Amino acid sequence: MGKKSTKSVRDLLFGDLWEYAPAPQSSGFVDLKDHYGHFINGEFVTTEETFETINPATEEVLATVSIADDATVDRAVKAARKAYDNVWSKMPGKERAKYLYRIARMIQEKSRNLAVVETMDGGKPIRESRDVDVPLAAAHFFYYAGWADKLEYAFPGATVKSLGVAGQVIPWNFPLLMAAWKIAPALAAGNTVVIKPAETTPLTAMLLAEIFQEAGLPPGVVNIVNGFGETGAAIVNHDDVNKVAFTGSTQVGKIIQRAVAGTDKKLTLELGGKGANIIFDDASIDQAVEGIVNGIFFNQGHVCCAGSRLLVQENIAEEVLTKLKHRISTLIIGDPLDKNTDVGAINSRDQLDNIKRLVDIGEAEGAEKFQPRCTLPDKGFFFAPTVFTDVTPSHTIAQDEIFGPVLSVLTFRTPDEAIEKANNTPYGLACGIWSDKGSKLFRVASQLKCGIVWGNTYNRFDPTSPFGGYRESGFGREGGVQGLLAYLEVR
Ligand code: ADP
Repeated sequence: MGKKSTKSVRDLLFGDLWEYAPAPQSSGFVDLKDHYGHFINGEFVTTEETFETINPATEEVLATVSIADDATVDRAVKAARKAYDNVWSKMPGKERAKYLYRIARMIQEKSRNLAVVETMDGGKPIRESRDVDVPLAAAHFFYYAGWADKLEYAFPGATVKSLGVAGQVIPWNFPLLMAAWKIAPALAAGNTVVIKPAETTPLTAMLLAEIFQEAGLPPGVVNIVNGFGETGAAIVNHDDVNKVAFTGSTQVGKIIQRAVAGTDKKLTLELGGKGANIIFDDASIDQAVEGIVNGIFFNQGHVCCAGSRLLVQENIAEEVLTKLKHRISTLIIGDPLDKNTDVGAINSRDQLDNIKRLVDIGEAEGAEKFQPRCTLPDKGFFFAPTVFTDVTPSHTIAQDEIFGPVLSVLTFRTPDEAIEKANNTPYGLACGIWSDKGSKLFRVASQLKCGIVWGNTYNRFDPTSPFGGYRESGFGREGGVQGLLAYLEVR
């Protein structure tokens, strides 16, 4: 007070003077049990061996969770088979649809609880669980409910038949949403399900099980078993599973593909990515900077389709990077339950170690690291938003999926060079293109080897739109009519 300010205009605009008051989301109403088991044949059952699920922002234990062994998985598959043979495959589509609509509405009714638990168990900002994960999970059930009695119109001229029991294994980056992505189309198509949530984020799946029970879903139609990789493998390898759907790392995807090879199980894999966000010099730069931030810092970069490589045209690189660094300096990192938070907690200590390892490699290989001035919480797993410049396509950080808030920046001169660099990874999931010219956007999009291309936007998801990759990003599509194909025999 009264002291002459020595702050520059930049500091005044982007520095520590511009602080938001805390806006904590209350979590007192969340009524978590001390222990969660499995959901088999419409009932909650526990098994002896357990693990702890923690809040990655505080390292507090939220609950203990049972681990399903082979016998428990077998029990779940048997329940799913019985429900398939006796109830679900015989039920008219319009009746199945009623359950899906009911589940969708109940997700909406319980959205606050689901969003808070999702944030506590996984570390993502409450703004994202509240505005993206939970509404989209409901939207997937609504969307596929609409298809349940119209399957013969989905593939005109063909006859369609459900497959039987679907075994599904999902990751920790969008726990509830991934469950909805997998369960909704499977049920709409007339299959029953055995699903395993990821070991760091089992809680919202168990809340979903409570919704299934309350919705009166017939016992055995959806079974949820908890555990680690061995439990997932037991589902994948079970003889009486007809279809396997996996979302997770490319490494585990390869193991699953080998396990399923030679069987008559139908398989879809949604694996890793190293998405390129391509900014041309005719793009609206401010809009593109927002898109770059959303592309890599949404959900702490724990996104298989993240725009983790920025390809920026050389003549605008300086301007884009200056604006990007300013924008990153305004991001709020910390308590995921604060409604202002932009970047929450890294999902687990293992993942934090993995990010640190790859960032160290980036520096050792000669890339230039930028991190904004920010104070990270003392407890919990946090990592500052990071931008690497001076990156070349051969750098590890330009090739390997980091799955964290780390952006690798490369430059290009011509559209052809942009396409070549964008395609220069083993992956092929998603890319973004920023340009004022529609013709350029479509020409470049048609030459990118990836399943999803966003134009002048990034990380947009909709249940009507198919999602999936090529090459080491997997195969099969989830969402849209195409998403039904994975759960039907079409003749
Ligand atoms: P991440 O490395 O991102 O944790 P993973 O691919 O290891 O991703 O995990 C995704 C899901 O796959 C989790 O639910 C995990 O428990 C499960 N999983 C891990 N190993 C296997 C396996 N060999 N077979 C089936 N599922 C597995």
